[in-house]
Amino acid sequence: MNRYSGEIPRRFHSDISQAPFDHCLLCDKALLSGGELYIIEKAYRDFGKKIGEKTLFEYAVCLSCAESYRKQLSVESRKKMDEFMSNIDFQKRASLLEGEEDDVWLKNCLIRQIPAGESGEAQIYGLCEGDRFIYGEFPYMISAEAMDQIVSLLSSETLDELDRFKESLTNGPSELQDLFDKVGPRFLV
Ligand SMILES: [Zn+2]
Repeated sequence: MNRYSGEIPRRFHSDISQAPFDHCLLCDKALLSGGELYIIEKAYRDFGKKIGEKTLFEYAVCLSCAESYRKQLSVESRKKMDEFMSNIDFQKRASLLEGEEDDVWLKNCLIRQIPAGESGEAQIYGLCEGDRFIYGEFPYMISAEAMDQIVSLLSSETLDELDRFKESLTNGPSELQDLFDKVGPRFLV
């Protein structure tokens, strides 16, 4: 895999602070100084449309938090997810997209290889190391249609575990609770 890095694109800044994400949503670790690896996720409606695009939620999580979240999954669910994702040729994709603008990387759904559907509901994911944005497996977009497919792979046992994990993390503000209700299993991808 040919990876390279660049400045964090504005598209992956926080819409709330109008600046790069600076701490992990879950453990509050500082992200921009030092070489911390972390994932940014933003969810949209009317993604990529010139008028009316709306950010539904956004956050950054460090890789160790993303890992512990993933461990909440049942072995069976993890296996299914891994099988599902192994159909994607990240290597080929990265070489096709190398040097392209961010819009091009995000244009088509990673899973369905077409733009997001009518509602334009989509999540985008990016990987950073400190203040650098890493191109390679990331960035990518997953449409709501594909996300439904992914969630349907998860066992009810896994969904229960994710609920418990979520509750343990979100005794705080109700906005966060709402966020997790929506995000749920999604930041595994
Ligand atoms: Zn963290």
